[in-house]
Amino acid sequence: MHCPECESQQVVKNGKVTLQGGVVVQKYVCKVCRKQFNERTGTPMARLRTSSTIVTLAMNVRTEGWGVRATGRSFGKSHSTILRWEERLANQLNQWSPTAPKTADLRVEGDEVYTRVGENLPPQ
Ligand SMILES: [Zn+2]
Repeated sequence: MHCPECESQQVVKNGKVTLQGGVVVQKYVCKVCRKQFNERTGTPMARLRTSSTIVTLAMNVRTEGWGVRATGRSFGKSHSTILRWEERLANQLNQWSPTAPKTADLRVEGDEVYTRVGENLPPQ
């Protein structure tokens, strides 16, 4: 654990907070800059009121093909809440994704396919 503000390792436990769903989050305070934070600070879940377990479950059923509204109903949330979770996690995932292939590379591949098709045409 390190301070999200000054990145010092000199942090001490500073009580706990119980979130919706009974999830207990450890709170910390930085001895260097006195910044208070918890173990979720700086993660995509940091500002969610719902436990990360529930969010993860909801995202799992979404990848299984559940609709946004069905997911919302099952988890007692509005569909806009589900969309907000997805948006937040998608933003995070984009930072981890490898660089997409350049458009130029894809175009070369397409030209090759086109050329091969052209060669198979009967001579005019
Ligand atoms: Zn600090």
